[in-house]
Amino acid sequence: MKRLQGKVAVVTASTQGIGFGIAERFGLEGAAVVISSRKQKNVDEAVERLKAKGIEVMGIACHVANAQQRKDLIEKTVQKYKHIDIVVSNAAVNPTVDRLLATEESVLDKLWEINVKASILLLKDVAPYLRKGSSVILISSIAGYQLGQALSMYAITKTAVLGLTKALAAEMSPDTRVNCIAPGFVPTHFADYLLRSDAIRTTIENQTLLNRLGTTGDMGAAAAFLASDDASYITGETLVVAGGMPSRL
Ligand code: NAP
Repeated sequence: MKRLQGKVAVVTASTQGIGFGIAERFGLEGAAVVISSRKQKNVDEAVERLKAKGIEVMGIACHVANAQQRKDLIEKTVQKYKHIDIVVSNAAVNPTVDRLLATEESVLDKLWEINVKASILLLKDVAPYLRKGSSVILISSIAGYQLGQALSMYAITKTAVLGLTKALAAEMSPDTRVNCIAPGFVPTHFADYLLRSDAIRTTIENQTLLNRLGTTGDMGAAAAFLASDDASYITGETLVVAGGMPSRL
């Protein structure tokens, strides 16, 4: 299916993992994709991988907490493609496993800055270029529904993303839909420290109803649906893509 033909999509933190999976699926569905991450080398390599699949792609280095780099990302995209239809704000950090009250202030700030604030600032820059019928997708986490367990401050920022989705959907309607994906566990570099233990991996698999971890392809499929006109009456929602892990009713 080529549901995204003619659309231009910007995906942050997309040179590997879930962001790359989303960019790849968008490209295969016909979108021109603009990928980015902090390191130019990673950007260049990911561009080549996508080009090899016949995808129309441009790569721009962008650390999402850097105002000038966010502006460059948007300006260069508009220079080349004239408009933007889809934005996926995917970047996040998880620098600590400390309990909440043991977490350094600088770490609390960093989690807030990258996981929540950078999405708002990016969308501020993008908003003037979004066309009618455009779609924004934020990336939360199953952890955003499991507060009080591990990764406290990370989980709190991911709960904030659920609220951010609702607030932005109201503010950006009716021309732009804003939705969110809450992935379960996907074996990427990000989740490596958890999933490299067979025991933890099995415990997590057993928490799903489908007895498996997620894949970046699962996330790409969900994002392509939300970005496409198939989801044209859906806004302010979060799609939990977690194999049935406990989340909400
Ligand atoms: P990943 O495989 O580790 O990939 C991270 C990507 O982000 C890389 O391309 C990295 O490239 C880039 N990046 C890191 N910091 C960045 C920054 N400050 N600005 C721009 N790019 C940055 O991570 P992932 O597992 O795909 O995670 C992606 C998203 O999914 C995150 O929001 C995460 O919270 C969420 N999530 C993941 C899981 C999971 O199990 N994996 C579960 C739930 C939610 P550079 O090093 O070149 O910057």
